[in-house]
Amino acid sequence: MTDPAQALRDVRNRIDHAAKIAQRRADEVTLIAVSKTHPAAAIAPVIAAGQRVFGENRVQEAQDKWPGLREQNGAIELHLIGQLQSNKADDAVALFDCIHSLDRSSLVTALARAMDQAGRQVPCFIQVNIGAEEQKGGCAIPELPALLAEARDAELPVIGLMCVPPLGIEPAPFFALLGKLADDHGLPARSMGMSGDFETAVMLGATHVRVGSALFGARG
Ligand SMILES: *Cc1c(COP(=O)(O)O)cnc(C)c1O
Repeated sequence: MTDPAQALRDVRNRIDHAAKIAQRRADEVTLIAVSKTHPAAAIAPVIAAGQRVFGENRVQEAQDKWPGLREQNGAIELHLIGQLQSNKADDAVALFDCIHSLDRSSLVTALARAMDQAGRQVPCFIQVNIGAEEQKGGCAIPELPALLAEARDAELPVIGLMCVPPLGIEPAPFFALLGKLADDHGLPARSMGMSGDFETAVMLGATHVRVGSALFGARG
């Protein structure tokens, strides 16, 4: 069993250290504690230890867990890091404060409509299939300019790019590529880095790291 407060301190220290080496300010990096699959009872101690920003990958699971946790703990910033179906856009806009998985034209339309109806602007990242993997979610790199143009036309608040690099190979080139694409398109935010590679991501300009197992232990 990991002590959640200790695990949180460790991850924060590692982020601080990586930021310092890269001559970045640690407060430029938002730690998103990825609590998917973990029950409210496992999340509460992490909140108690001071963490206020969490990530979930399923709308339904987040709807089951977070209204209660928010009621007990006050304001929590919730990020959607998993694939979003267009028919869940309204639910996602109501519950989440940031969406990392905008990856296609139909979702631009659905999210723009949902935000309009809710009167609520939710910042979005465009997810990029950075390793051009067949099975992987995310917009293909050559399609990024058109998708971004559509999102801007629809007045979606796109703040940056998100990626999950291919498993099992060095992630640094993919983080660097995401950073270059974000630069090319004038996007300030980069959501990249998970438990196995968040320090590398921070050194390469991540503004949001999504860390699950290093905080909560392995998922079942
Ligand atoms: C599960 C998940 C994470 C966290 O992964 P860990 O390796 O447990 O840190 C980050 N990003 C996405 C998109 C995920 O689905």
